Amino acid sequence: MNDSQQSNIHDFDFSLICEYFSSLHRQGPGSEKSTAKALSFLPPMGADKRIADIGCGTGASTEVLHRLTEAQIVAVDLFPDFINHLKNKNLGNRIDAQAGDMTQLTFADETFDAIWSEGAIYNIGFGKGLSEWRRFLKPGGIIAVTDASWLTLDRPSEIADFWQEAYPSITDIASNIRCMEKAGYRMIATFVLPEDCWQENFYHPARRAQEIFLRNHPDNPIAEELVRNQRREAALYQKYHQYYGYVWYIGKKL
Ligand code: SAH
Repeated sequence: MNDSQQSNIHDFDFSLICEYFSSLHRQGPGSEKSTAKALSFLPPMGADKRIADIGCGTGASTEVLHRLTEAQIVAVDLFPDFINHLKNKNLGNRIDAQAGDMTQLTFADETFDAIWSEGAIYNIGFGKGLSEWRRFLKPGGIIAVTDASWLTLDRPSEIADFWQEAYPSITDIASNIRCMEKAGYRMIATFVLPEDCWQENFYHPARRAQEIFLRNHPDNPIAEELVRNQRREAALYQKYHQYYGYVWYIGKKL
């Protein structure tokens, strides 16, 4: 297989992944209530404030930030398709949606009053993201991210193995707090996303989306594999949710 054939297959995979995830309201666990609770730890985000929403997906959290603040919001995601979805919501000129790579952001130093990232910082790594993004925050600015974390010290091997493969650097809340402090922040708050953020808001709507997706791509092994993986992830959450969760980490730049 030559390079161009390989890259075509790659492009095809990406377009399928984008199509599936674009059909969901959110691309990871979360809820309006949890975003609002996280926002309650911040000073008022009035019209003179700027927030970055990094790894915004199709903008579920961006919409909430838009509704609950008066700030200017820059929303960034790697996939232009997701950004187009967000743009098509026509939320107005307080949102600047941009395709971009969270590992290579080019904002000027001290641009933002707050940096937001729901279910996305794992793509750069928790510690690396906190360290690299810190310079984009104004002095005293706030970072608020959710990341998958262990909730217990011991866990069954089936779920430990799954996460070891999916996110080898996953760790517990205490370690992430230490990591945040080491990266130059004072910890303000941490709380675990309730189960409904996963079940009602993510896995349940995904079931219907998966049926439609499979119907639209009959006999397509890539589509089948994608859905199989999503279903496995949901089943594991059902079985082992007491051992892990998404956790908010909210810190203030020192
Ligand atoms: N915050 C959204 C999406 C979470 S899913 C929500 O809560 O619904 C994780 C997101 O990170 C996806 O949209 C994915 O496209 C994005 N992403 C992955 N790697 C990225 C990168 N290197 N730079 C920017 N975004 C990235």
